[in-house]
Amino acid sequence: MKIHVLPSGPIQTNGYLLLEEEAGEALLVDAPGGVLDLIRPVLEAAKCRLRELWLTHGHWDHMQDGARIRRETGAAVRAHAGDRQLIETPELMEGFMGQRLGLEGVTVDHWIEAGDRLRAVGREFEVRHVPGHAPGNVLFYDPAGGVAFVGDALFRGGVGRADLPGGDFETLARSIREQIYTLPDETIVLPGHGPRTTVAAEKAGNPFVPATA
Ligand SMILES: [Zn+2]
Repeated sequence: MKIHVLPSGPIQTNGYLLLEEEAGEALLVDAPGGVLDLIRPVLEAAKCRLRELWLTHGHWDHMQDGARIRRETGAAVRAHAGDRQLIETPELMEGFMGQRLGLEGVTVDHWIEAGDRLRAVGREFEVRHVPGHAPGNVLFYDPAGGVAFVGDALFRGGVGRADLPGGDFETLARSIREQIYTLPDETIVLPGHGPRTTVAAEKAGNPFVPATA
């Protein structure tokens, strides 16, 4: 399966576009500002329709284009209710950030929970809850493809900030150890910012959350 990595927006947040060309369907994981303009030509060239938009969590940089994408493509939006307030009223974050970005709340069509199995682009994804960076951070694990979209829980050689509203480092460390490090070692971890990594590489060398406490 081809995964298009599309960093965009003011802090280069990764949007991930997955296509199933035979069925003419596409899935987007996260919606940073400007990503709609990046996915349009890819969808057109592949003759695919965006069917699903999944948000890893409710931080503004992961959903800045969410409302527009839902309106203009008809994609169904899925997210975890732990971030409901952030997703529906993102302007709350503007006060915290000290700048106005004209953020628009996103209507979520389906609230998801840990253990849910989501079918899209010919694959079945497992939802795991990985709070600590944001209360509603989830990951989407595709066992057949050997990939996990983890949002801002874990980065290559790093972890998500735990000092934002609703964040907590101990919770984050537990999420990483219990929900990410328990995936198969060879699993490719696709984070919300920066380059990809693997479960094995982070278990062996992540300086913030070593494999054992
Ligand atoms: Zn975040």
